[in-house]
Amino acid sequence: DVVVAGSANADLVVRVERRPASGETVAGSDLATFPGGKGANQAVAAARLGARTALLGRVGDDGHGALLRASLERDGVDVSRLAATPGPTGVALITVGPEGDNSIIVSPGANARLTEEDVAGAADLIGAARVLSLQLEVPLPAVLAAARAAEAAGTRVVFNPSPPAPVPAGLLALCDPLIVNEHEAAFLLGEDAPEDPEERASALLTLGPRSVVVTLGAEGAVVAGEGRVPSPRVTAVDTTGAGDAFTGALAWRLARGDGLREAAVFAARVGAAAVRRPGAQSSFPTAEEVEAL
Ligand code: ADP
Repeated sequence: DVVVAGSANADLVVRVERRPASGETVAGSDLATFPGGKGANQAVAAARLGARTALLGRVGDDGHGALLRASLERDGVDVSRLAATPGPTGVALITVGPEGDNSIIVSPGANARLTEEDVAGAADLIGAARVLSLQLEVPLPAVLAAARAAEAAGTRVVFNPSPPAPVPAGLLALCDPLIVNEHEAAFLLGEDAPEDPEERASALLTLGPRSVVVTLGAEGAVVAGEGRVPSPRVTAVDTTGAGDAFTGALAWRLARGDGLREAAVFAARVGAAAVRRPGAQSSFPTAEEVEAL
């Protein structure tokens, strides 16, 4: 149903009272290691809801790579195109402060080595899928190649340009939809960004994508030209990965044949369910849990 081409990271999390200044050492909590990375997160979000899902990407030949592969397999994600690369797996070094605020250093590792050749080798997989989901934690040439392979095969492209970076117009033109949070929307629109979320979504549409969804945290989302989509009211414990849960869920519902608005209504419920528990993948709901919300 869904192929995700993107990143897999080991998230290494330590809680601290305060962050060290240059040359200083502070003691932190025990280290916690979680499976993460936007690509893997989206794949797991879709798989947990019942989608047949594959992750096209790269991990290193180290312990983190083995851990991520095993964890994806446990969630039923097809890892046959998750190549092992000599060297380190992608890692996010995360410190969480007393207010729950985080600072993150991402070391891309094997994610930076995903190539156009890797994508060419997965053309069959992309062609057999209904939806291809893309982000920007792997090199742009690989993202572009994947989008073109999808276009050639008639596979729908869902794209979340995160972390924010300039996106070629040719890639934007293939997005159906382009999915952005408010921060990413502001980046793409620059100084011209309108204040109103619905106007923002319409402004993004003028950049060329076939459709646009802007996510608004607790306020839900906007589908350009189709209005607001509400999010259920929940007590937010940890919003990490909410956007990835939303995108993975949206990709799955589009693959099943839902209309965009209908898919976004469901995805907003999945995003809301994901903020009720700590972590990213560890917080993603099953279809039954979404139903119960
Ligand atoms: P990102 O994680 O990319 O910043 P958002 O914060 O916009 O993305 O969240 C994505 C989706 O998750 C939202 O559209 C919404 O459905 C859900 N969500 C996020 N935060 C909350 C919250 N505090 N309460 C309810 N739903 C939320």
